[in-house]
Amino acid sequence: MVYGSVINKIIKVKKESGQAPDFLIKKMIEKEKNKEKIIIFDTTLRDGEQAARGTLIQNQKLRIAKQLAVLNVGVIEAGFPANSPEEFNAVRRIAREVRGPVICAISHAKPEAIKKAWESVREAKKHRLHIFLSTSKIHLKNQLGGMTYREALNISREMVTLAKSYTEDIEFSPMDSTRTEPEFLYEIIEEVIKTGAIIINITDTVGYAVPEEFGALINNIFKHVPSIHLVTVSIHCHNDLGLAVSNSLAAIRAGARQVEGTINGIGERAGNASLEEIIMAIKTRQDFFPFETEINTRQIYKTSRLVSKLTGFVIPANKAIVGENAFCHASGIHQDGMLKEAATYEIIKPTEVGASGSKIVLGKLSGRHALSARLSRLGYFLKGDEINKALLVFQEMANKKKEVKDRDLRRIVQKLRENKDRS
Ligand code: MN
Repeated sequence: MVYGSVINKIIKVKKESGQAPDFLIKKMIEKEKNKEKIIIFDTTLRDGEQAARGTLIQNQKLRIAKQLAVLNVGVIEAGFPANSPEEFNAVRRIAREVRGPVICAISHAKPEAIKKAWESVREAKKHRLHIFLSTSKIHLKNQLGGMTYREALNISREMVTLAKSYTEDIEFSPMDSTRTEPEFLYEIIEEVIKTGAIIINITDTVGYAVPEEFGALINNIFKHVPSIHLVTVSIHCHNDLGLAVSNSLAAIRAGARQVEGTINGIGERAGNASLEEIIMAIKTRQDFFPFETEINTRQIYKTSRLVSKLTGFVIPANKAIVGENAFCHASGIHQDGMLKEAATYEIIKPTEVGASGSKIVLGKLSGRHALSARLSRLGYFLKGDEINKALLVFQEMANKKKEVKDRDLRRIVQKLRENKDRS
């Protein structure tokens, strides 16, 4: 992807200036190489699977994990091994069989659970332990039985120390970060970095944040946590207000370099941030997000369909990037524009995400241009009066059904021609 976009830029410069000088080409390649990387952390198999009625069996998890490796995500969070023996086995199998991404197991802050998480991923070529502990007052009170800040700090330190005896690659999440008292959040982050965590994951566990606020929180963490520059800042957003992707992008602008999410945005309650949307926002708006994700975007569609099929969650037609209608054009004005030049109404080429192509859906909003273009594609080159007659029959049909299909058009033309022969 990096290479491709460099070539495109060179071609553009060559076109505009006649011939690009060597020094400029070198400079552009250098700039591309130094583009900061955003690590795509996929949790479809952990948080995604936590979606109500979305559970997967071991073979299905393995199939998705293999496809995520083809998509080239940086990290696969394969599951929560302490949950059940089945989950443990599924994670271990992914760790053994899937190559490429880092294989990560999540665990709550209990020694036995961390040990299980380690046992499940230790055979992976690259592995990670992800430990979480709630830090907001409401969670400490209700979820952790009235645990104090001091106790939470001590437990976090102890658990990171334990995890460190297994591996260097430790991610720590203060759960419910966005509802945590900022001063305490800074303190616990500093402590776990000193103890050995190398990725700090800032969570909007309940999907409560809004973009400006979440970006500001990341900025403040950079300002108030002295050791933060030694680690990677990650983010984990939920979609309860429909803001998971926007919040993630605001955090990236503020300095986060790992983003967690799921394919199709599945996950607890209203789901997690949709990775395909974040990936394509970065790729499409390089002027705003000058970063590199290393994702093979042409695998997005296939991955999305596989996750939908195996989880049983249907993708809404209007879902960004992967919905059935994402590249469909219905209104006459749009169809006319599309036929002249796709970029008029499309900001992403469907093939970039592995979709088959733009679709012009013929219906009651379609006009003469779209109809005659489709007829020509079907081999019917209608002229003058013939196209006027076809348009009338077409419009009558389009008023009655949602889509006029190719077989309907063939019938329309055949009928017109039969009538003509008779007369
Ligand atoms: Mn979550």
